[in-house]
Amino acid sequence: MALKFAKRVADIKSSEVRELLKLTEQPDFISFAGGLPAPELFPVAEIKRVNELLLETEGQAALQYSTTEGFEPLREWIANRMNQRLQTNFTKDNILITSGSQQAIDLTGKIFLDEGDVVFCESPTYLAALNAFRAYGCEFVEVATDEQGMVLEDLEAKIKQYPQAKLIYVIPEFQNPTGLSWGLERRQQLAKLSAEYQLPVLEDNPYGELRFEGETLPSIKHFDKVGNVICTGTFSKIFCPGYRIGWLAGEEGILQHYTIMKQGTDLHSNTKAQREIATYLAQYDIDEHITKIRELYRHRRDTMLQKLDDVFPKEVQFTRPEGGLFVWVTLPEHVDVTPILQDCLAEKVAFVSGETFYPTSQKRNTFRLNFSNMPEDKIDIGLEKMGRVLRKYLEN
Ligand code: PMP
Repeated sequence: MALKFAKRVADIKSSEVRELLKLTEQPDFISFAGGLPAPELFPVAEIKRVNELLLETEGQAALQYSTTEGFEPLREWIANRMNQRLQTNFTKDNILITSGSQQAIDLTGKIFLDEGDVVFCESPTYLAALNAFRAYGCEFVEVATDEQGMVLEDLEAKIKQYPQAKLIYVIPEFQNPTGLSWGLERRQQLAKLSAEYQLPVLEDNPYGELRFEGETLPSIKHFDKVGNVICTGTFSKIFCPGYRIGWLAGEEGILQHYTIMKQGTDLHSNTKAQREIATYLAQYDIDEHITKIRELYRHRRDTMLQKLDDVFPKEVQFTRPEGGLFVWVTLPEHVDVTPILQDCLAEKVAFVSGETFYPTSQKRNTFRLNFSNMPEDKIDIGLEKMGRVLRKYLEN
């Protein structure tokens, strides 16, 4: 007899990126598919020292159960960092440590979404957030999105059209998948709309620290006068994703609900990982480390953009992000990326087709390229090969 799984099991498909990642584990593959940081920058030697120090000085506490809210000194550091970078006004009591910011997204679904509720999102948007929310039975309404962020006239019209809306999900800095960032006015206006219509905003910001040029703008939260904006952040892109340590930042009344839900999920995030990161932050200069990451990624982005200019057919458009990990490519509308991806995979070059980043619209002419994880020579070779494949399809 077949087992009867919950409906959500059938609703959620395995992500194309995860499947591709398996393929690209082969060593001779050139992969622009994942969103992986450059592992050569993980501070392994420093972490070895930190680990020893931690186990010597607070070994028992580091291996024990701990509070759901998270390790206080780490929460304190996060609140200060956010206030300084994003012009927020948080204390440690506004911070809940999560198992990656992915868990923060999932818990947001858990506390806000019932079956049939509507989530507004950018078009395109982060596909693992779509899958996390989808498990709670919600529907997505894509809001028109341009180089400045969500088009807020469209959002307002849709808010009026969908009274069952419960949440607005946005990635305002170096968005996944487009690499683009929101302008100041849009940030301010979104906070205003969120207050006016009493709709919470999840401001997901894993890439903000990876700015290579231009100025850091205040967050959407900075403009939030009523407490409806909830932020996420993570150590994945500025330190190491394997720790799975991220956070939620929001008003205490809302965080309480998150804390209770998190208890049902995993009681608390990894105690040792939290204390290890806190020890690293006390012993080393993380800004120095982040500067190295920014420099390497800026080089790789420059290499990628230069090569795209040189070898991609002229009718292909792509974004020029000021930071983050991704470039977003748009082919002429009539071109379907699926056979192009197949041909590239046969050449051992991988990327992610754009289709999965759109929850509802069926756009087949876009794809995402990651530049953080491949050295410059491989970026050159991989794009050279992609250029050849693209010319075959575009010149027909
Ligand atoms: N949000 C966005 C937009 C992402 O791209 C990612 C993953 N790269 C995450 C959240 C989750 O990251 P993590 O769980 O490692 O913090």
